[in-house]
Amino acid sequence: MQRMVRHQPARDLTGRSHVAASADATTGSGVASSGAAGHPMVDTFGRAVSYLRVSVTDRCDFRCAYCMSEHMTFLPRQELLTLEELDRLCTAFIERGVKKLRLTGGEPLVRRDVMTLFRALSRHLASGQLDELTLTTNGSQLARHAAELADCGVRRINVSLDTRDAERFRAITRGGDLAQVLAGIRAATEAGLKVKLNAVALKGENEHEIPALMEWAHGEGHDLSLIEVMPLGEVGGDRVDQYLPLSVVRERLAERFTLTDIPYRSGGPARFVEVKETGGRLGFITPLTHNFCEGCNRVRVTCTGTLYMCLGQEDAVDLRAPLRASRDDALLHEAIDAGIRRKPKGHDFVIDRATSAPAVPRHMSTTGG
Ligand code: SAM
Ligand code: SF4
Repeated sequence: MQRMVRHQPARDLTGRSHVAASADATTGSGVASSGAAGHPMVDTFGRAVSYLRVSVTDRCDFRCAYCMSEHMTFLPRQELLTLEELDRLCTAFIERGVKKLRLTGGEPLVRRDVMTLFRALSRHLASGQLDELTLTTNGSQLARHAAELADCGVRRINVSLDTRDAERFRAITRGGDLAQVLAGIRAATEAGLKVKLNAVALKGENEHEIPALMEWAHGEGHDLSLIEVMPLGEVGGDRVDQYLPLSVVRERLAERFTLTDIPYRSGGPARFVEVKETGGRLGFITPLTHNFCEGCNRVRVTCTGTLYMCLGQEDAVDLRAPLRASRDDALLHEAIDAGIRRKPKGHDFVIDRATSAPAVPRHMSTTGG
């Protein structure tokens, strides 16, 4: 679908112009491409990969209790892909059939000059090669960037909000300011962005607030998705204490609300219900109680250029070395192919007392949520 981007950017981050991006479809980054460009990425289970999530930084201005430890050590800046490299990498994936691109982190909006990356990537929306450019954000910097994001062709965003209680918010995020996030959500809505809210269901933390959070979200016109805590990275606490199965949340909600399963999909793993009383949609992201790997169309790249074929598995392919080895994308495409061939059937998360170590040692902020 061809889409209009108001200020059509015609350049990538190296300054090369793309007068007619679609005419240059196999060389989106302006450098010679290998024969692999244009070949869709289909794994050994027949799943086509059309959704890429890229973590643009591991840094964040929050320290959510389920995501990070209080004293995180972040990567040295030189380890990170430059914005130009991120542009080239995303472009290579778009040439291979990625239709939906989500920038995430850490907190994507704390990466310096990240808007130049959005601006550059929006050329793929203008050319029609990319259907959707979006991001997942904690909302803290959204008030500053909402209008420009909309101007770059971003239409829908995910904002994480676990609670509307300022004190609880400060506790869960270890220092975050709820008012700042709510102002960001308002600014995004005013800029014309459709905001979907994500809340991690946390035992003893926000579990009793979920009905009220949902009613408020729906009243404001936002879909809300609930997420089960996943065992990713050491966070300095016990996962069993945080874990609240969404099957339990759903049962409790069903006592007060009429929930009807609907086929609506947002492109991600959430399964949605319509809530009769609010007229809104509620999504359940249930990696633990319901394995969602069957229809997985996603891969993830970290801010250091590591391709993870599955959020819940350790196997990975380095894309940074082939990216840096030559200006030609042939090596990069070879590495992407190697990864796609190894995409596993599914994850094997488990949270119980016997398994105290995280299933996957890397943090969500490293892989990108
Ligand atoms: N900083 C941004 C944000 O918070 O939206 C983007 C990155 S964050 C890692 C992406 C999403 O992952 C957030 O919705 C967050 O709540 C979720 N998340 C982080 N750690 C998680 C975990 N261990 N289990 C489940 N969800 C997690
Ligand atoms: Fe930061 Fe997002 Fe992780 Fe919270 S969930 S610490 S906001 S990256």
